[in-house]
Amino acid sequence: KVLDSKTEEARLYVDRVFSSVKERNPNEYEFHQAVKEVFDSLVPVLAKDPSYSKNGILERIVEPERVISFQVPWVDDHGTVQVNRGFRVQFNSAIGPYKGGIRFHPSVNTSIVKFLGFEQIFKNSLTGQPIGGGKGGADFDPKGKSDAEIMRFTQSFMSELGKHIGADTDVPAGDIGVSAREIGYMFGQYKKMRGQYEAGVLTGKGFSYGGSLARKEATGYGTVYFVEEMLKDKGLTFQGNTVVVSGSGNVSIYAMEKAIQLGGTVVACSDSNGYIYDEAGLNLDTIKRLKEVENKRISEYVKEHPQAKYINDCTAIWEVPCNIALPCATQNEIDEYHAKTLVNNGVLAVGEGANMPSTLEAVHVFQTNGVLFGPAKAVNAGGVAVSALEMAQNSMRLSWTFDEVDAKLQQIMKNIYKTSLDASYEYGDPGNLVLGANIAGFKKVADAMISQGVI
Ligand code: GLU
Repeated sequence: KVLDSKTEEARLYVDRVFSSVKERNPNEYEFHQAVKEVFDSLVPVLAKDPSYSKNGILERIVEPERVISFQVPWVDDHGTVQVNRGFRVQFNSAIGPYKGGIRFHPSVNTSIVKFLGFEQIFKNSLTGQPIGGGKGGADFDPKGKSDAEIMRFTQSFMSELGKHIGADTDVPAGDIGVSAREIGYMFGQYKKMRGQYEAGVLTGKGFSYGGSLARKEATGYGTVYFVEEMLKDKGLTFQGNTVVVSGSGNVSIYAMEKAIQLGGTVVACSDSNGYIYDEAGLNLDTIKRLKEVENKRISEYVKEHPQAKYINDCTAIWEVPCNIALPCATQNEIDEYHAKTLVNNGVLAVGEGANMPSTLEAVHVFQTNGVLFGPAKAVNAGGVAVSALEMAQNSMRLSWTFDEVDAKLQQIMKNIYKTSLDASYEYGDPGNLVLGANIAGFKKVADAMISQGVI
């Protein structure tokens, strides 16, 4: 009875704050979705411990500490002036400097950077490293741009962003459309602005100027390490299982690499135009060359491997039967229909390598059909975890070997899995990793906020 009334009270608190989130942030649907998922998980925590509501933690955690929006003017190769919009959301700094990637994609807007920044708070907390949550980006489309255009755009972007970041303030990294090349141009511009060498201001740097070995591989490898833990608990492994990995960027490529190393057969991957399929298994060397060196579309793959098929529809990749699905492309790429299709085709496990790739309805389908489901903020946390290891190496002015970083990454992923699983048991929904990850990530941040007072 007492528990029921406390749960009821917690539910009312969550609903009240969620309504105000919708009212105060109209049309930010991705942000609403991310908040809803976390809030639904938190009801049992709020019911158990009244200090969170007393300290207004929900009201405070959904309001970014700072949102920066700025003009990014640049000159294209034809001499035409173009203007894009840049963003940085400094969401929460309770447990460390803001930390999170920069996304260059035409879909970037306030809602997208806020959903990503919000998720980053809990993800970063789960890594066990001292990093707060942030995210940034621009509505710039790198597709088809020359290297010189990318450099000019990125320099212009940093000439404003650089005023707001620092190794102990806010540490950006890459995300969709931003990898080592862009980080290098940003680092150069920042160094020039500051007139000093501040290695820890960005992560994902090239190894020759302060980057960490295994950072490039970390998100994809970490995704597979996490899924391996989920499978292990059921007496399963990657060995002999078919795997579908959407996307063909940094996360996808290294998820495929580790899945293959562990004995899985990767039968399909995609880009934003379509997907490739080969039931005998894809050739990762070709994919790496096409995407990392030649900057080509994934459709080119079938010219070199005629036994493979190319299908001109990227979301139809979820119609390919597989045992393990790793969505590593983008938000909301799996809807309810595709979740049902995956279930009907016998999927055993889903691990989210991208950020929020499954809609709330899709997650519900997986969870009610006995699919092992690993949520993004736990599964893909390996990337930002190794970013924090890069910051640590920069502070110590040394660098660890690939194997040292990889071993730390594996341990971190095991810890995240265990922490999330333990929280799911403690709060009454054993095995629900969405609930467990949200709760474990939340508690550390919320407790730090309470300790530091209302500031
Ligand atoms: N963009 C990545 C993420 O979504 C990495 C962020 C970072 O390394 O700071 O977590």
